Order: sequence, then structure tokens, then C-alpha cells
Amino acid sequence: MSFSALGLAPRILDGVSAMGYTDPTPIQTQAIPLILGGRDVVGVAQTGTGKTAAFVLPMLQRTPTRKGVRALIVTPTRELALQISEVIRDASKRTGHRYAVVYGGVGIYPQIQKLRRGVDIVVACPGRLLDLHSRGAVDLSSVETLVLDEADRMLDMGFWPDVHRILNLLPERRQNLLFSATMSPGVLKVVESTLHNPARVEVSPPSTPVERIGQTLYPVCRTQKTDLLVELLKRSDHTRTLVFTRTKHRADRLSRQLERQGVASAAIHGGRSQAQRQRALDAFKAGRSPVLVATDVVARGIDVDEISHVVNYDMPNTAEDYVHRIGRTARAGASGSAISFLSAEEVEVLRDIEKTLGSTIACEDLEGFRYAARHMPDPERTVARAGASGAAGNRSGSGRRSGRRGGSGRAGRRS
Ligand code: AMP
Repeated sequence: MSFSALGLAPRILDGVSAMGYTDPTPIQTQAIPLILGGRDVVGVAQTGTGKTAAFVLPMLQRTPTRKGVRALIVTPTRELALQISEVIRDASKRTGHRYAVVYGGVGIYPQIQKLRRGVDIVVACPGRLLDLHSRGAVDLSSVETLVLDEADRMLDMGFWPDVHRILNLLPERRQNLLFSATMSPGVLKVVESTLHNPARVEVSPPSTPVERIGQTLYPVCRTQKTDLLVELLKRSDHTRTLVFTRTKHRADRLSRQLERQGVASAAIHGGRSQAQRQRALDAFKAGRSPVLVATDVVARGIDVDEISHVVNYDMPNTAEDYVHRIGRTARAGASGSAISFLSAEEVEVLRDIEKTLGSTIACEDLEGFRYAARHMPDPERTVARAGASGAAGNRSGSGRRSGRRGGSGRAGRRS
């Protein structure tokens, strides 16, 4: 299947070639003809599947220019808004569409001025869009296409009341497109109340973690996590490592500790200003900071290719977050590694993760690392005890390789 067979016009196809895409991804093959045909569409697809171009390309084709704001894309985070606007920028090289991207945390006046000069498409985070509307800076009464991107995330982040207010500012007759990584009951309710007889398209995540990502568990006590991370970073070739911590505070602290030990790193989390986040992301993308320390909320939408390693410095709260986190590596056909530090306090969630994966994760000790005595949980026993106490077992530790636990564990995981 080629892009031209999907019904895209030559001026859009030029943008597609300029972006270097040769073949459409499955979500694009399914969604583009439906959107071009004017249908409401629900797309169940994660970041990494090509979902952005799946709605941007047909939206550009259907959106007239110089007639006021005719297309509105609402998305939960600034990073996603910027990523979407980059796809619009590249795809609209020959169409002449003008667009604005609006989000909070930065000055509002440049956005007001941009809107005043006239735009065809607005990419927005909900709160700032409402703010701009209340100041009379944007007229949404002629919107013909609405995209709700990452709808599940918007619900999780409590944006639905804002989104609902935005819906009330739009004409009733319009095309609605909704994309979401999951179809939770909350998202289903939004679909039922907002979309008209939608077509549903669905693709599985771009890579199945168990197939493409080497996963390893390193039991370690809380206080040795930073030392272990530094040692691992020193020992192997880490082009770009994304490290997850549980809280903003821990992200900042870890980043500082790494810097002190000579590891260039940056931190990105919701407590940082937009400019700080962008600087961190740019440094990571450019390779100036090979280590990026992040929290779950901001990391989910980060679209950086060539992440060689994901490190769960702190285990995530849920199995779903684990799958999202490790899915940041091994993108675009590359291979990748996911390393998880497991302290005695974190064994509970491991059970859920392994249940979701349908297999166990290989467990290793780092050879030669000076593990503190009597600190490490023995996952083999602790987990087998069904989280009875969640307490640390007793393992003398250093230099031992425990290899895989369980039957099929590692074999199918590395390819
Ligand atoms: P998304 O799921 O929209 O976040 O896209 C994930 C990545 O896939 C982005 O880096 C896109 O540039 C890339 N991409 C999207 N569509 C295609 C395509 N048809 N061929 C190659 N890469 C693509």
C-alpha cells in the first residue's frame, strides 16, 4: 500500500516525501481514507505507531486556508503539542496552511499575536486555549475538524472539564477524531457523548516489549541505586539512556548526583518550566546529555528515536506504566534494553508486571559491584511468597549472577 493509494492529493504527498516516509504505517492505512471521507474516527493507537501523521495528513487535505480556524487539535501536554506542530510544519510545506501551537507555562502574548495574524489550524493544550478564548484571542466558531489526541491521558490528567468547555465553543456540525492508547470506560463515555457513528481503527503497539526489548532486573537496596546506575553507565555503551524516577524531587536529585559523578544528564518533569523542559529534551536529542531523568507524566509523549536503554531507577506504580516506559526504547526497529532496579520495597508491582508480560524477567547482579551486605531482596523467594511481607530476603550478593527465574523467562526476550 502506498500513500497515493490512500487518496491523498499531490500537494500532501509532496509533504509526505519531504518527511521521508515511503510506506504508510498500519494506522495510517486504516485511518487516512476514513478521515478523507469525512467520517468521525476513533483510533486506538499509541505514540510510535505513526498516529500523528494519520490525522494530520487527511486533516490538511480537508482544511481550507485563509478562512479562519477550521481545524483544532487538543492534546494534553506541551511536548505532544510541539511534536504535532512539527508534523504539521513538515507536511504543510506546499499547502500554505498557517497554524499556531498554544500551551501554558510560557508567555501568552506571542500566542495572541500569532493568532491575530490569522491561522487555519490550532494545536492546543486545553487550559491555555480556554484562557485565549476568554481573552477574545481565538474564534472557534468555524472549526470543521476536531482532534482529541491522547484522550486517555487527558482524562487521567483531569482535563475533561476543560475539554468539555471547549466542545461547547465549537459548531455542532464538525468532524471528530479521537485518538487514545487505551479504550478505558472513561474514554468510551467521551466517544459516545462526542462522536457521531465513529469508525474504529486499532493497531497494536509498535513493538511488543517481550519480543524486542532485553529486560533485566537488578535487585539493589534503595541507597545504592545511584552507585549502581553510575557503574552500569560506565561499563556499557549507552547512547541515550532514559531514566525513570518516581517523583520530580527524585528526578532532580538523581540528575544532580549523576552530574557530580561526571555523568552529563538532564531532568524533565512537570515541575519544570516549558523552556527548561525543551532545553533538556534538546540536549538529550543532540547527545549533549546522554542521560535524561524523567517522571512518567512527561515521558509518555516523548518521541526520541535511538534510546538505547530505559532504566527504571524506581519501579513504576503499575504494569501499564512499565510497558509504556520500556516502549520508549527499541523504536523504529532498533533493539533496546530495559533495566529495572528493584528494592525490597518495590517487589509487589513486579508480580503485576510479570503477569502482564506473561513471563518472568531475567534477574542479574552486576559483577564486581560492591553490594551492601544483607540488603538485597531475593526476588525468587520474595515474589514466590506472593508478596506476603514484601520484605528483603538475605543474599550475600556481590558478583553473583542469578540468571533467569522461571521457565520461559529470558529465552524469548532477546532477539
Ligand atoms: P507518532 O506515533 O505519531 O508519534 O509517530 C512516531 C514516529 O514515527 C515519528 O517519529 C514519525 O516521524 C514516524 N513516522 C510516522 N509515520 C511514518 C511513516 N509512514 N514512515 C516512517 N516513519 C513514520
